[in-house]
Amino acid sequence: MTTDTPDIEFEKSPCPLGCHASDELIVTGQDRINHFPGEFHVVKCQQCGLMRTDPRPTSDSMGFYYPDDYGPYLGTQASANNTKSATLKRWLRTILDVRSEYIPKIAPGKLLEIGCASGAYLQKMEGMGWQVTGIEFSPHAAESARKLGYPVYAGSLESAALESTDFDLIAGWMVLEHLHDPVSGLRKLHEWVQPGGWLAFSVPNAASLEFKLLKEHWYALHLPNHLYHYTPDTIRTMLTHTGWTMPAIHHQRTLSSLLASMGHLLDDKGYHRISRWVVGKPQDPVRLYQALYPLAMLAASMGQTGRMTVWARKPV
Ligand SMILES: [Zn+2]
Repeated sequence: MTTDTPDIEFEKSPCPLGCHASDELIVTGQDRINHFPGEFHVVKCQQCGLMRTDPRPTSDSMGFYYPDDYGPYLGTQASANNTKSATLKRWLRTILDVRSEYIPKIAPGKLLEIGCASGAYLQKMEGMGWQVTGIEFSPHAAESARKLGYPVYAGSLESAALESTDFDLIAGWMVLEHLHDPVSGLRKLHEWVQPGGWLAFSVPNAASLEFKLLKEHWYALHLPNHLYHYTPDTIRTMLTHTGWTMPAIHHQRTLSSLLASMGHLLDDKGYHRISRWVVGKPQDPVRLYQALYPLAMLAASMGQTGRMTVWARKPV
């Protein structure tokens, strides 16, 4: 990794599963979300297969890579739910179930969402009868969720202390890959959930064909914010190591990550107009990937889409 960015500290990140140091360089990439300078490396532990960003920004420096206008925070505002476009999107999501926020069929109880952003998911789940709590790294986004009336801890999962736990379900949508210490994080969640309780989360799938083919152009690399790059095998290893069972993995029925990756590739080749057409405008309710839903279902059935939703359970 090299960077000209001042005041950002980087650190080595050994394999969190305690393997002896033996890594293979997988890919070198750049910050494509914030466009901050620097080159970052993804390495793979030769012992357990887990891929990670190494070196990485320290947890104290990480806030620099999450400015208030950080792309993935946008579009999560609960207030956006009232627009016509949001209604159409919800309807399309019901018809074309991509399984992006797919949870086990259990009766509503106590829910914790890690990485709750501005509270849109908490609001949706409260409407379905859940008693909701959130944790959010961004103070700005956490404040927005609090204004909706929800108890939200502002800070990292690693630092979070909650007054009330014993959750029936913990959800984390595209969060686990951002954690500095996923082993401690998963152990903490394990303590907070009831025996027999669930953890449902989504992460990019680094075993997908789109990563193998598009490498540094892969949208879900998201360097340096994504610190770990999981596969079905390595997420199972991580969950088993921290006391969870893993009853199911659902490969999401969407090609959005593939299309965004192709956009990166086209941009790098100088085809900006074609790239904009492929990636589309985020506010468009009907996008190319929805038209490609049958193809996405086929790719998902073969475990080859760029995102997966994982169900883990604490043994009774
Ligand atoms: Zn390892």
